[in-house]
Amino acid sequence: MIKDKVVIITGASSGIGEASAKSLAAKGAKVVLGARRTDNLKRIAADIERAGGYAVFQELDVTKQSDNDEIVELAKATYGRVDVIFLNAGVMPNAMLSAMKTDEWHQMVDVNIKGVLNGVAAVLPTFTAQKSGHVITTSSVAGLKAYPGGAVYGGTKWFVRDFMEVLRMESAMEGTNIRATTIYPAAINTELLTTISDHAVADTMQGIYDKYGISAERIASVVDFAIDQPEDTVINEFTVGPANQPW
Ligand code: NDP
Repeated sequence: MIKDKVVIITGASSGIGEASAKSLAAKGAKVVLGARRTDNLKRIAADIERAGGYAVFQELDVTKQSDNDEIVELAKATYGRVDVIFLNAGVMPNAMLSAMKTDEWHQMVDVNIKGVLNGVAAVLPTFTAQKSGHVITTSSVAGLKAYPGGAVYGGTKWFVRDFMEVLRMESAMEGTNIRATTIYPAAINTELLTTISDHAVADTMQGIYDKYGISAERIASVVDFAIDQPEDTVINEFTVGPANQPW
């Protein structure tokens, strides 16, 4: 059931996070939005409230453990509990390794890997104590296959796959009923390509997205589906992409 669940969403200021927040709130979830662009979060929360839903937001840099801890506290203080955390924040500054964009390599590790670790660390004691909870992450098809230009991005998303599978197994072993769902989107039309600083790579990828990209709402409906399952059922993995994609 989605109704009345308290759902924290990281990377909620655009794209998949925004679409998921709006879709979940429309189905009765109470959403807690985090990202760095608070102007966007304010607008999205206002849209949700105007439509009759519940939303609060907080400035969140997922690379900072304290920000992650604070958003969990905000959820509890506002709505009394946390049922789901959707760890969706991510960046994709793809480039060939020979371009030596080492700052961006580290940025991807910090946001896409450490951001997930920080989010899980913030919520795991709560989920363990209440013997329920749902962690959802946005990996990527780049977490399943290797793509030139995406060595580091893909590596961060492969990490998410391993981590989530072990989280699921350990939760089952320990009887904590924590559900672990990983989503592997292909080309989704969001603001993600704006994180690419290499103009040639950005242009090439824009061409691919123009041809194959689908909307963020398609991923939001998958997030809805995963949360809506009965508590004894977990959807572990979804690959979601354009029907016409040849790769
Ligand atoms: P967007 O660029 O639209 O959204 C990315 C979100 O991540 C934004 O809300 C951004 O918010 C947030 N973010 C980035 N850095 C940080 C940070 N340090 N702290 C907190 N939030 C941060 O792209 P998408 O919606 O596409 O991306 C969502 C997820 O989906 C990412 O993990 C991405 O890797 C993954 N994905 C996307 C695909 C696609 O084709 N679009 C395909 C496969 C996976 P802000 O800048 O305000 O902090």
